Amino acid sequence: MPQTTPDPAATLRPRLPSPLEQVEDNRFSRYGVRLLLKRDDLIHPDLPGNKWRKLAPNLRAAAGRPVLTFGGAYSNHLRATAAAGRLLGFRTIGVVRGDELAKRPLNPSLARCAADGMRLLFVDRTTYRTKDDPAVLARIREQTGADDVYVVPEGGSNALAATGCAELGRELRGLADVVAVACGTGGTLAGLAAGLDDGQRAVGFPVLRGGFMAEAVRSLQHAAFGGPVGDWSLDERFHFGGYARTTPGLERFAADFEARHKVPVERVYVAKLLHGLVGLAAEGAFAPGTTVAAVVTGQEDGSALDRRA
Ligand SMILES: *Cc1c(COP(=O)(O)O)cnc(C)c1O
Repeated sequence: MPQTTPDPAATLRPRLPSPLEQVEDNRFSRYGVRLLLKRDDLIHPDLPGNKWRKLAPNLRAAAGRPVLTFGGAYSNHLRATAAAGRLLGFRTIGVVRGDELAKRPLNPSLARCAADGMRLLFVDRTTYRTKDDPAVLARIREQTGADDVYVVPEGGSNALAATGCAELGRELRGLADVVAVACGTGGTLAGLAAGLDDGQRAVGFPVLRGGFMAEAVRSLQHAAFGGPVGDWSLDERFHFGGYARTTPGLERFAADFEARHKVPVERVYVAKLLHGLVGLAAEGAFAPGTTVAAVVTGQEDGSALDRRA
């Protein structure tokens, strides 16, 4: 194993700044609103979207040490971390929620992690829920047998991740009035809002229920920037029942958006964001003349079909 990782950007050549595309959609244009898509899904084929922005600064900090991180059975973050380990030559350990999964064949998402060399450690849900407790984390680290590991939290969101996502905001300065993003752990919104200019605002659409997102974003901003930064808010109405939950209406909406605009719509996050934006436009939430940029934070992949089944 190499002792230091080459700079991730020099080796993986991400497409940055990511492309910004205008789409013609009458659900916005009829209100005088311009819709742009910020194509973060095109940043890198194996580390798309916010996963690149959040991981890159953490990989620099890990400096070649094994990276231990956490996720659910379909975690985009686990897949991106495993791919980075393969491409950059460092060891990865994925702690997966749900010890019952250990007895089943790997789903396509986890199979890809394993094929990329990630060591998978399945833990029961109670352990997983308390993984931020130092004693629980110490026990997990012991099980991996690796002593000098770099720990990245679930979803990849920590202070460095938020710093990386501030670049997303800076790329959009002067180009949109409102920037909208789907939220899982809140790291992307925390950084995005910090990178925007005065007069621009960010709105986040949590895909999970529970009302914890505002506090998560505040605490990430505190850790990354020392306090609240930027103008951001949340719209908590568009989770469709919670993480990875969907409805026939949402599925129709996503398929229709793909057909209209020839843009793949990732179902767990991006579909809910776009549906939310159409809803806000119809409510008159955007004044005529407003430019709204929707961040396409990731790619749809085959395993999503399996997950929805
Ligand atoms: C991980 C992920 C998110 C959530 O980002 P957070 O920083 O955790 O809020 C949003 N969209 C996609 C496609 C993702 O994979």
